[in-house]
Amino acid sequence: MKTLLGTLFLAVTSLSAYDYALKPVRITSDVTCFFGKPEIMDKTNNGNIVNSCYIDAGEGYVVVDTGPSYAYARSAYKAMQKIKSLPVKLVINTHIHDDHWLGNNFFTDSGVRVLSSDDFKVNADMSIPTRMQTYISPEAYAKTKPTLPSEMISSDTNLTIGNQRLELKFAKHKAHTAKDLVVYLPKSKVLIAADLVFNDRLPSVRGGDINGWIAALDDLDKLGARHVVGGHGERTDKEAVKMTRDYFTQMRTEIRAAIAEGLSIDETIKKVSMDKYKKYKLYEGTHRHNVEASYRVLEWE
Ligand SMILES: [Zn+2]
Repeated sequence: MKTLLGTLFLAVTSLSAYDYALKPVRITSDVTCFFGKPEIMDKTNNGNIVNSCYIDAGEGYVVVDTGPSYAYARSAYKAMQKIKSLPVKLVINTHIHDDHWLGNNFFTDSGVRVLSSDDFKVNADMSIPTRMQTYISPEAYAKTKPTLPSEMISSDTNLTIGNQRLELKFAKHKAHTAKDLVVYLPKSKVLIAADLVFNDRLPSVRGGDINGWIAALDDLDKLGARHVVGGHGERTDKEAVKMTRDYFTQMRTEIRAAIAEGLSIDETIKKVSMDKYKKYKLYEGTHRHNVEASYRVLEWE
């Protein structure tokens, strides 16, 4: 009987405390990130498909993106406390996609400020069940409550937290979303570029704009970052931006040529298959939608 009760207790506690077992990766002495898998969310990865980072500001951490669930945010927090026990001073959400901010309430429950763009007021999908809730396991999603940022900004903002200067910069035009925020740390020359930069898997421009995206990457180049952490993918050197830039640049050239030839959208999707990208994850589910969305932008030029 005792054993049965013990087993039941264990089953119940493990149900209420799903552990993502996230592995911290040190980028510089003051920036540590967690890298998600290059996959679509499901009940195996439980939404651990996204990157998030902790900035050590001396007196505390600044967290950039909180992941797909409360349990994800808790796992990341616990892993960081093992490295250095510091309070979280501020959370930043880079954009409205729910794999980047559904962990917010892990922090707001203890009164931490969450800062992001005012795009949350307009475009954040607050419908219940959330997209994430539909695709990941209830154990992983437990305790998650979609929680909007407590402070929203509409233009570039510089902050000083502890010993860090943080430059929060907006893409000038619609790019991956209507308003994409990046975080640049001049001290260590780390750029947390969020979903303006993908590697290992194809980026998605649905809901965005191919021209704005390429222009945003050109602007990011001017920062002179030494380390670039994208929203998806593990590459963080200066070449981290290359895959996303090359992919969209080639796509734009080929779609413009197809439009000039008078090809329809269906003919263009067939023609612009960009076969060398087939080796990347998510090609099947993403590429044709990227061509379709970009055709609709470029046909008006
Ligand atoms: Zn995104």
